[in-house]
Amino acid sequence: MKTIGLIGGMSWESTATYYQVINQTIGQELGGLNSAKILLYSVNFSEIEKYQSAGKWDEAAKILGTAAYALQVSGADFIVICTNTMHKIVPEIKRYIEIPVLHIAEAMAYAADEIRVKKVLLLGTKYTLNEDFYKKTLENFYLEVAVPPSNLVESLNYVIFEQLCKGKVDHVFKKIFLEAIVPIIKDSGVQGVILGCTELGLMFGKDDFPVPVFDSALIHAKSAALYSIDRLGHSI
Ligand code: GLU
Repeated sequence: MKTIGLIGGMSWESTATYYQVINQTIGQELGGLNSAKILLYSVNFSEIEKYQSAGKWDEAAKILGTAAYALQVSGADFIVICTNTMHKIVPEIKRYIEIPVLHIAEAMAYAADEIRVKKVLLLGTKYTLNEDFYKKTLENFYLEVAVPPSNLVESLNYVIFEQLCKGKVDHVFKKIFLEAIVPIIKDSGVQGVILGCTELGLMFGKDDFPVPVFDSALIHAKSAALYSIDRLGHSI
């Protein structure tokens, strides 16, 4: 069994989900008392968020690159970065290590492909939605990607950072979002929704939308567990 190196804490609310899902998957796959070999490097999200909002991605890369290196020297066989947004700096983080990174957007693309979904609505932080790094990865896998209008991107971003990353779920916001998102799904003909923020699963579930839902935290964590026991079905 490979040792999984998790870079977490962004936020810790979703890192807790990773820990649980990885171990549940190993239990389901191997049975008995089997559990995952995990090393966790959990950062202070306040420091990371300050660098994000100041556009100091190179400073954030130093923290996450150092974390990745620490995991490598401690025995991790591969790295799992438990946030979509910070995949913006995967190329910089990779410079610190020799071991592979299990890319979250690639995991999502494989999951969509598995059920022949070709066009998705991507939800996430403003960084993930407004910039190209995430959409490009999905498009490299021949997925067509739609994003919500800018006012909705801003509100989603607000709720992610001010509520979900602090463990709060506001059902009024959820209702407002669903009233805005469901018509977009119907009008744009998307076949799936990517919860491209690891905290969005705290607010939305698979029954909230009229199309299949791809929860990045659940899918990424499950992929990590399967890769650790050579059952992922594709290379990383
Ligand atoms: N966990 C979130 C994500 O998946 C947002 C927090 C962050 O900016 O890293 O994008």
